[in-house]
Formats: sequence, C-alpha cells, structure tokens
Amino acid sequence: MSEKNLVIGNWKMNPASFDEAVRIARAARATAGKLSSTDVVVCPPFPFMAAAVSRARSANYAVGSQSVSTEESGPYTGEVGADMVRSLGASYAVVGHSEMRARGDTDAIVSKRILRAIGAGMTAVVCVGEKSRDEAGSHLGALHEQIRQTFAGLPADAARRIVIAYEPVWAIGAKEAMKPEDIYEMSLFVKKVFADIFGSDAGHRVRVLYGGSVNFRNAADIMKIGRVNGLLVGRESVNVPGFKDLLKAVDAV
Ligand code: PEP
Repeated sequence: MSEKNLVIGNWKMNPASFDEAVRIARAARATAGKLSSTDVVVCPPFPFMAAAVSRARSANYAVGSQSVSTEESGPYTGEVGADMVRSLGASYAVVGHSEMRARGDTDAIVSKRILRAIGAGMTAVVCVGEKSRDEAGSHLGALHEQIRQTFAGLPADAARRIVIAYEPVWAIGAKEAMKPEDIYEMSLFVKKVFADIFGSDAGHRVRVLYGGSVNFRNAADIMKIGRVNGLLVGRESVNVPGFKDLLKAVDAV
C-alpha cells in the first residue's frame, strides 16, 4: 500500500470547453509535480480525458475516468469501455458515484463496473455513502448493506485494486462537509465492513477517501482529524486556485 495521500478530482460535467479543460489539467499537473507526499488524479468528462493525459512522465499525477461501461465492447451505443479509457492512459476509474446511482446505477451494476475497471488494469475508486443520517443510526445499516451488495460478489483478489471513496450523499454539493470527527468514525466503519467481506488484511490495507464539499479551507482538518487516506473532490477540483491550495494543504499535513 502506498503511504502517500491520494486526492482525486471529479470534474463532473465541467468545464464547457476543451481549452478550459487543458488549462485545469495543466494546473493540476504542475502543482502535483511539486508535492512530496500526495498523488493527484484528475477525472475529466470522457471527451477531455486525452487533454488531461500527459505523454511525458508527470510526478504524482494520473488521470481517471468518471465511470466505465458494464460491457466490454460491441453494440452499446453511448457507452465508453474500460479498455478504451485505459488505452488513453487512464489508470483509475470512479464507479458508483451517487450522481450515477441516482440515475439508475444499482449495487449490481456498480459491481460489474468495478470488474471491468480492474479487468482493464485500473484501480477502481468505488463510491459509497448513506443518503441521510438519523439519531437512531439506521444510516449505518443502509451503508453496511450498500457495501456488502457492492463488493460481496467480487473475487478476493479484487480488493487490492479497490480504493473506497466514502461520500455521504447529503454532503455532496452541499455548503459544508461532514465533521472531521464523524469522518474518522465512518471511515473505520467502512474498513470494518470491507474487512468482513475480504478479510482483515484487506480491511487494514484498503485506502478510504472522504468526499463531500471538500475545499481548500477544510481539506487539512479532514485529513488530520478524519484520518483518511485522501479526498475525492468535486467542485473545488475545477477551481484552479482553490484546487492548487487544497493540494498544498493536504501535502503539508
Ligand atoms: C463529488 O462529486 O464526488 C463531490 C464530492 O462533489 P463536491 O466536492 O462538489 O461536494
């Protein structure tokens, strides 16, 4: 397991133009090159992935896709396959993002996407998270079930190619992130459920990221107090100065 922090920028359906995509990717790559203990992954929309891939070797920098098809190839109009993005130079694939789950991705579909990403030689960044929280703690049961359904059917050796992004749905695109103390508690819970499926070694090794309204101001506390292995960053990842400051703050932790 890499001891480095991992910060993944999910650009969502942004920016509007290729030129802007080049500008955002270049800035992330330049900042990544100056970091000492943080790996940076940018995940642009499919048409802009080539703009983000560097043919030259770039320190601490990689490209990921925002999803991959459940299918390998063939008559699936509109789909983008894992081998395609891998051949472009992507080494990570985000799967199971709540914005994809909201548009129809079930745990079974997410599971298939994980297999495709891993099969193509990429690391699958698997998003999990509860929709809401309540005093009685019923969100823990819902999250447990989501993790079990997403991972339980996978082969044992898949665990090494998985990074978990714990993203409470209510904190995505919100005003505030989850409290760092609660992030710590939830990341332990996620690791425990993962260990119940893949064994204690895998549970110990798996990297857990936090995502949900992370910005340059709260990133360091989330890393320090939340004790996560990294961050999945949405809006702030397309804000060039904000993402730069966020990366520096994480690297300084
Ligand atoms: C995300 O898209 O995964 C995300 C966490 O978004 P935001 O940082 O904008 O809340």
